[in-house]
Order: sequence, then C-alpha cells, then structure tokens
Amino acid sequence: MTGRILVVDDVATNRIVMKVKLAAACYSVLQADCGEAALRLAASEQPDLILLDVMMPDMSGVSVCQRLKADPATADIPIILVTALCDHASKMQGLQCGADDYLTKPVDEITLLARVRSLLRAHEIQRELRLREDSYAGLGFSETASGFDGPGKVALVAPDPATGLTWKRALEPRGSCRYDVLPRERALQAQPGGVPGGGSAPDVYVIAADLGARNDGLRLLSDLRSRPATRHAAAVMILPRNDAERGAVALDLGAGDILYDPFRPEELAVRIQTQLRRKRQSDRLRETVEAGLELAVTDSLTGLHNRRYALRRLDRMLAAPGRGVAVMMLDLDHFKLVNDRHGHAAGDRVLSTVAKRLRATLRPGDLIARLGGEEFLVALQDTDPDTALFCAERVREAIGARPVPDAAPHPISVTLSVGLAMAVDAGEGAVALIERADRALYGSKHEGRNQVTVSATAA
Ligand code: GH3
Ligand code: MG
Ligand code: MG
Repeated sequence: MTGRILVVDDVATNRIVMKVKLAAACYSVLQADCGEAALRLAASEQPDLILLDVMMPDMSGVSVCQRLKADPATADIPIILVTALCDHASKMQGLQCGADDYLTKPVDEITLLARVRSLLRAHEIQRELRLREDSYAGLGFSETASGFDGPGKVALVAPDPATGLTWKRALEPRGSCRYDVLPRERALQAQPGGVPGGGSAPDVYVIAADLGARNDGLRLLSDLRSRPATRHAAAVMILPRNDAERGAVALDLGAGDILYDPFRPEELAVRIQTQLRRKRQSDRLRETVEAGLELAVTDSLTGLHNRRYALRRLDRMLAAPGRGVAVMMLDLDHFKLVNDRHGHAAGDRVLSTVAKRLRATLRPGDLIARLGGEEFLVALQDTDPDTALFCAERVREAIGARPVPDAAPHPISVTLSVGLAMAVDAGEGAVALIERADRALYGSKHEGRNQVTVSATAA
C-alpha cells in the first residue's frame, strides 16, 4: 500500500531512523522538526498518517494532536504518538485527545509497520466515503441519520467468564457504553439488525487472542470480518504481554486496535471510545453514500427511476436475450392546464398518483421512469408486439379511467398519450428506440390525444 506519512520529531536522527524504516516499506515520508511545521504541513499536504513525537521544544505532541483533531481539515488524519516517556499520564492524555495509538522509543519495527498498515487502510476507506459524500453534498442531500446514536454496544469475548466479568466491572464506571460478556459461540450469532436476545449487533468487540484454544480469538476476528452482520463492527484485540508478532497479525486481520495484557481499564475504555467514534463516523458516511446512490437514480417527486438510470437500464435490457423489448413513451395530455387551473401543488399530486398507478398496472420487473415534467418511460423485457400493445392500452386506461381523487379540493381528470416502439433490430440502441417511441407519441397527440400509437417501423 502506498501512503504519505508525516514524521514529526525535533531530533534529526530520530526522523532519519523512522524515515529509513518507512521508506524500506515503500511509504513516502514528509518531515517536520517542530509542532508549528507539523500543523502547517498536515494542513497543506494532507498526509495519510502522522507519527508525532511527544516531547518537542515549541509545543508538546499532545497539543499538536489536539489542534489537528480540532480542525475539520485535519481531524480525519490518523495519529500515532511516539514517546520516550514511560509516563502513563501523557499517553492517556494523547489517546484521550484523539491519537490512535502511542509507540514507545525505540520503536519496534514489526509493531510500527502493522500499525501503519492498519491505520492507512482505515483512513483510505474513510477518505473514499468522504469523497463520495462530498459529491452528493453538492446535490443537496448530505443530511442523513439522526445525530443521536444511543450508548455504544460493546461485546466482551474473554478467555473465561470470570475474566469477562472482571473486564465488564472495570469498564462500566468509565464509559457510557453497554458492555456484554459473550462466549465465543454467541459472538458469531449476530444477525443483520439484531442478535438473539434482542438489539442490534455490537459496535465494538473486545476479544482476547486466546480463548478456549490458542489463536481462537484471532480466528473469531476473521469470522466476524467475513459476516455481513458484523463486518463493520470495530474490534480491539487483547494479547499476552510482549506478543508483538501476534499483535501485528491481529491488526492485519482487521482489528482496529490492540492492547497488551496486563492493561489498565481506563486505557481500554479510551481505546474503545476511539473505535466507537470511528465506527459511527464510517456508519454515517456509508449511510449517506447509500442514500446518495439511491437518490442519484431516483426521481424525488414520484420515487420512480430517473432518466439517467432509465437509459442505462434500457441498454442492458436490449443486450439481454428474449423475444424483444417494448418501449413506451407516455405524456399527460394538456397537463399545463392542470397547473394553470388548480395550481402546481395539485399538479404534483397528480404526477405522484400517475406514478402509483403505473406501478400498480405494470409488473415488478418492468422499467418505469420519469424522464422529466409529465413525461414517463416504460420498458418491458421479453415481450411480443401484441402483449406490448395490450399493456400500453392498460396503462392508458389506468390513468384516464378515473380522476385523481385527492389532487385538489375536487378530483382532477387527466388522460395519457402513448407512443409504443418494439426493438426489432438488435443493433438499435436505447436512444434510437426512445426516439421512435417519441415520434409515435407525437402521432397520438396529433390524432387527438388519450390514445396509443405504435411506431410504424415496429414489427
Ligand atoms: P400536451 O397534451 O401537448 O402534452 O400538453 P401539455 O400541457 O401536457 O404539454 P406542455 O409540454 O405544454 O406542458 C407540460 C406542463 O407540465 C408544463 C409544466 O407546467 C408542467 N410540469 C412539468 N413538470 C412539472 C412538475 O414537476 N410539477 C408540476 N406540477 N407540473 C409540471
Ligand atoms: Mg403533456
Ligand atoms: Mg410534455
């Protein structure tokens, strides 16, 4: 994986040692020799990760971290604090202000590189989602999801029930999460949207590397990663003291964080909070992106597909084997009068009722789209000309036979003109086919409206 890493240290030798290690793993390295330079480079260069020395003359690494996390332009960049101190308090302070991890000098290379890989991966996913979110924001639908998430759900998967309970008791006073001790088997039972016994899947799993047997926890982690219900959950792996090698494996398997036994409960609690924050942020981004994808192909007034989607889908329908594809262009008659007489809002209600009736009349697999204004497109797959004509008549009737009851203070009647074209020539594309249907539609209008015209060149 390529990645740009900003190394911040006031001692040139330290920066060079770090640069050699990172360059050997093919990362590109930027350097800053003080806190001010770090802030400037982080903002202008947008590195993928920052390795941040804690003790610097101008500003402590912890304050640099705080300022980076407070600025939206740099808040997403993962930070690893690098410290010579065995001082627990400043490590905790660093984690609390949003650093993802701290490493103690001299930095162990295996741990460093595994951590770097894991954070770069997470950051890459985050950035990808963020980019798509930005492109949707311009279209006016970045607002999704409620701001209120409720307390986080944390599953504790310990080697034995007693240890699980000890973790739970130690964590409970230190965070607003709900902690559940789960045996290994139960941890895998989470269903999309719920676990047996109620509620949704946990947000964070805390898993000991060894459960019944050695490496059981690591196996559980890959199982969780492979299942839809738990794929996006965060995980913190607890490892035996000094087991850096398996710590690296845990990170590569997708643990968001690792911690070595014996750990301080407050440190675990802070790390859980960081994982929870990241998980919720990605959940929100994912929801926005999914909603955006949906909206990008949907017409907001009627819920039908839009033109862009319709053209692509029609091209695919034309490429599929079958008897033939029928395309209908539909246009409401004298719709301008509806607006003029009853107002635009009533017109809108007529349009959504028309959409509803089209849906009710056609089969679920048929393509129904609103191309714009009071113009719709319908495409039927694997259809012969007689069936297509029959369908077109049904559609016309479905609109004109009954007035729209609640469109205005009183019901409004509208009729529909239809142009029908059958795809007969395999080489004919979506646009050409639609053009033929459109010419047939023009024929219906010309002949007095409220009727179906079949394209002359159709079989
Ligand atoms: P024709 O029978 O020839 O199709 O006549 P028409 O009045 O339906 O056609 P024309 O294209 O002249 O007018 C279409 C009208 O549809 C104009 C516009 O006011 C209205 N319209 C387009 N989009 C919307 C919409 O989203 N909501 C509402 N309420 N009206 C719309
Ligand atoms: Mg019209
Ligand atoms: Mg029109």
